[in-house]
Formats: sequence, structure tokens, C-alpha cells
Amino acid sequence: MHGTRLLDEADRLMTVCNSCRYCEGLCAVFPAMEMRRSFSDGDLNYLANLCHACGACYTDCQFSPPHEFNVNVPKTLAIARHESYAAYAWPRAFEGLFERNGLVISLIAALCVAAFIFGFAVFNDRQILFGVHSGPGAFYKLMPHNAMAALFSAGFLYAVVALAMGIRAFWRDIGEPVGMKTDAASLWQAIRDTGELRYLDGGGVGCFNKDDKPTDRRKLYHHFTFYGFVLCFAATSVATLYHYLFARVAPYAWWDLPVVLGTLGGIGLLIGPVGLLAEKWKRDPVLADEARTGMDVAFIVMLFLTGLTGMALLLLRETAAMGPLLALHLGVAFALFITIPYGKFVHGIYRFVALVRYARERRAMGHTV
Ligand code: SF4
Ligand code: SF4
Repeated sequence: MHGTRLLDEADRLMTVCNSCRYCEGLCAVFPAMEMRRSFSDGDLNYLANLCHACGACYTDCQFSPPHEFNVNVPKTLAIARHESYAAYAWPRAFEGLFERNGLVISLIAALCVAAFIFGFAVFNDRQILFGVHSGPGAFYKLMPHNAMAALFSAGFLYAVVALAMGIRAFWRDIGEPVGMKTDAASLWQAIRDTGELRYLDGGGVGCFNKDDKPTDRRKLYHHFTFYGFVLCFAATSVATLYHYLFARVAPYAWWDLPVVLGTLGGIGLLIGPVGLLAEKWKRDPVLADEARTGMDVAFIVMLFLTGLTGMALLLLRETAAMGPLLALHLGVAFALFITIPYGKFVHGIYRFVALVRYARERRAMGHTV
């Protein structure tokens, strides 16, 4: 007996699959499963977070419904994965944020945007708020740099601590000693597998949709989104270095590194989330945890709005729209920061940790990964 009925079902499926092994070439889940004769709760959570939800093992399975074995690995692992996010949440009092997550994220985003608009309106007179500002320090006429830096640093630090505590809980749950360090080769392998989204290809043919025709589009839009986010983060980091190391104050010229990185990242955050939403529409509901659709959509929309408001701010920063757009962009970005530990963002973190563990155990067994 496991901690939940869902994990009992995951155990049943993994036991069937371990006898069958037809899908062992599709992804990392099946080779990891084959290293085990029985499955603890932590093993099942590890396999669930290793799954990239490509759907191939459902389409390929001779025991999927209407067969009496009723094998549906993608859906069962998706539900287990989503339940694990709440179980690893820090502080535990916030695990409930994963329930009705779409509504929770929407409310937090609306509150953050409203707070920034209210703050801008209260602390700036009309001429400043709707004035045209240009040159270094233009943004800080509307909100002092120190206040902006303090607020976002606090939000970022909180998110990092909460994510680190979540990783600690996951690492413990899957049976790794808390202080265990990984070897550089396994870490590098996991970074490569994550960077390539190696296991989001259904064993080489692509992800499956309602029409049973596999396609690479879901992987492509994941790439746009992931690298868009990374580039936007890099833009913010470079701008921070500019400010504190070289006393160069934003906004910067269009050809300067933070703007180039931010523009490329912003484009990624426009194309990727729209594509992911379109692909989500085409997904066969039988593969997905439909009860958590709101969580997926809320995260995708938050990323899109971050890209959209950032690009609008860049294009209109020397017009009277700059003040309201800055409030909007800061509100969305702050909401994204503080909800990172309590939304779909964590899937990337736990999947990466699961890939590190997978690389480690494959090496320990003498396999090439
Ligand atoms: S999903 Fe089906 S075909 Fe694949 S290993 Fe499991 S039982 Fe076999
Ligand atoms: S859905 Fe894809 S990634 Fe998940 S277990 Fe099946 S084949 Fe592997």
C-alpha cells in the first residue's frame, strides 16, 4: 500500500510495464523502472517527474483501454507528478496553492498588477506618470531604483529558498541522502538532456495528439519558451551587473547587451507560450491530468504576459505610455517571481533533478546514459 490511491495505481502500472518492457527505448522512465523490482512512494514520484508526457507509451501500448489491464502511463504519471508538487511545497502551509492553481495564480497576478498601478498612481503626479521620459534613469523617475531592487530581490530570494527546500524534499523522497552531491558528469548529462528536451520526442517521432499523428511542435515551443525565459533572466542579470559594477543606468540603447538579450527572450516568450497553448488544445485528453489544466494555462499565460508587457515597454519606452506600461510589466514580473515555487514552473526543476538522479544511477550500473 502506498501513500495515495494514485500511487497504488502507478505501482500497478509499473509492475505491468516491468513485465512487458516494450517501451524501454522510448524515454528515461522505462530504463529507470527496469532498475527496480518494487516501487516505493519516492520511486514512483521519481519516475513521474522523469516522464515528459510525450504520450508515446499510451499510443504504443497493447494494454491501453479498452484492454482490461487499463494501462495509461502518461495520465497516471501526470497526476502523480502534480500531486508531488504539493507534497514538496515549502512552507507546507502553502501546499494548498496547488489546488485550483489557475485561479490562485490569476488572483495573485491581478493583485500584483493592481498594487503596482496603485503605487505608481499614488507616488507620482500626473505629469510624471504620463510624461515622456528618456535617457539613463528614465524608469526610476516613476519608481526609485532602490525600491525596485529591494522588492524584486526579496521576491527572487524567497523563490530561490522555497525552490531549494522543495528540491531538498524531492531529493529526500526519492531516496537520495540530503547532503549527497552529484558527480560532474551526471550533472552535465542532465544539463544536456534538459537543454535538448531529449525525452520529449516520443522515442524519436514526436509528441502525440488527438489525431495520433506525432509531431515535434510541442518540443519546439517548449524550446522557445525555455530559452526565452533564460534570455530574459540573462538580460536582467546583465543589467544588474551594468548598474552595480559599471554605474550604467537603464534604460539602455537597443544594441546594448541587456536589450538584445531581452528582445530575443521576449520574442521567445511570445512565440513559445502561444504555440504551447495551441498544442495543448490538440492534446488527447486521455493523456493529460485534466483537473490541472488551469495550472498549465496560468503558467503559460504568465510567461506570455511577461514577454508581451516587456516588449511593449521596450517599443513604447519613449512615449507617454511608458509609466502605465512599466507598472503593468513590473506587476506581471513580480507575480511571476513570487508564484514560481507554487505553479507549473516547478516541473522543470524537479524534472531536472530527476534527470540528474537518472544519469547517476545509470552510471552506477555501468550503462552509458
Ligand atoms: S506502456 Fe504498455 S506497452 Fe509500454 S511497457 Fe507498459 S505495458 Fe508494455
Ligand atoms: S509519456 Fe513519454 S516520457 Fe512519459 S513515460 Fe510515456 S514514453 Fe515516457
